[in-house]
Amino acid sequence: MCEFCHKHGEGKKWYLRAENYSEDLLSDVRRRKYIERFLSRPERLRGDLESLEMLDRAPALVRGALVRVLSNRQKRVHYGQVVPIEDLERILGFVNTVVRLPCICRKVTLGREKRYCYGLSISPGGGGFSRILRGLEPGFLAGPDTSGLETMTKEEALQALREHEHEGLCHTVWTFHTPFIGGLCNCDRSDCIAMKATVSHDFPVMFRAEYVARIDPGNCSGCRQCLRVCQFGAIAYSVAEKKSAVDARRCYGCGICRAACSREAISLLDRASVPAGAHLW
Ligand code: SF4
Ligand code: SF4
Repeated sequence: MCEFCHKHGEGKKWYLRAENYSEDLLSDVRRRKYIERFLSRPERLRGDLESLEMLDRAPALVRGALVRVLSNRQKRVHYGQVVPIEDLERILGFVNTVVRLPCICRKVTLGREKRYCYGLSISPGGGGFSRILRGLEPGFLAGPDTSGLETMTKEEALQALREHEHEGLCHTVWTFHTPFIGGLCNCDRSDCIAMKATVSHDFPVMFRAEYVARIDPGNCSGCRQCLRVCQFGAIAYSVAEKKSAVDARRCYGCGICRAACSREAISLLDRASVPAGAHLW
């Protein structure tokens, strides 16, 4: 279990705890202001990317100390975790409203709108998080060509998330003043600033999933499709055996490889049951 499960999940998966999406948490004025500022100022993320590049050039000791301090701060305000589709389905089982919105990272990195993020609310009739989103200046969030936010049924949202998975995107949940969870994103290494920070700059802003993938060699045809979609370089191919295998030390447990495997050779195991990955977050 990750640190947040112990702190905010009462020993269970913290993102499956309905209280962490509650209106009670959202009624905190500081949290609401943080969400408004976060979503209204995408340009701030460009500065964050530049800071990461500067940090990479710092001496190792300085860098290590800064990363620890800043990453711990990040855990208090805005931190994520990779979540596979079956757990997203469980989340959609208890939230009441799902609103699709443009991804703030892609707005910065691609300069255009891509609707890969989903705001979640637990109260009937739309909830506070959706109200905050609707109250934002539309020019910041949706661009001039698209107005309003897209309310979806939970079935539509699940279908869209499955499609993102087949596009090779990695599902993540995000806090806004931890432990409140406001939304889901669908990330990739080229466009998502959080994934760039965590994977390319070794500056963790999200936990790995509570799972690790395993390939059953008996079902693996060696087609290497899984290897092509893994964004974490966690799959290797053995020419001698003509099979692929997962390196548990690199696996984030996203399940994207599983969706790409036509032989159903890949399953997700509890991270705790895989010694090589059990303590890697
Ligand atoms: S996609 Fe499936 S069958 Fe193909 S190499 Fe990967 S595990 Fe094996
Ligand atoms: S090997 Fe691990 S990190 Fe790579 S796609 Fe599969 S589950 Fe995700």
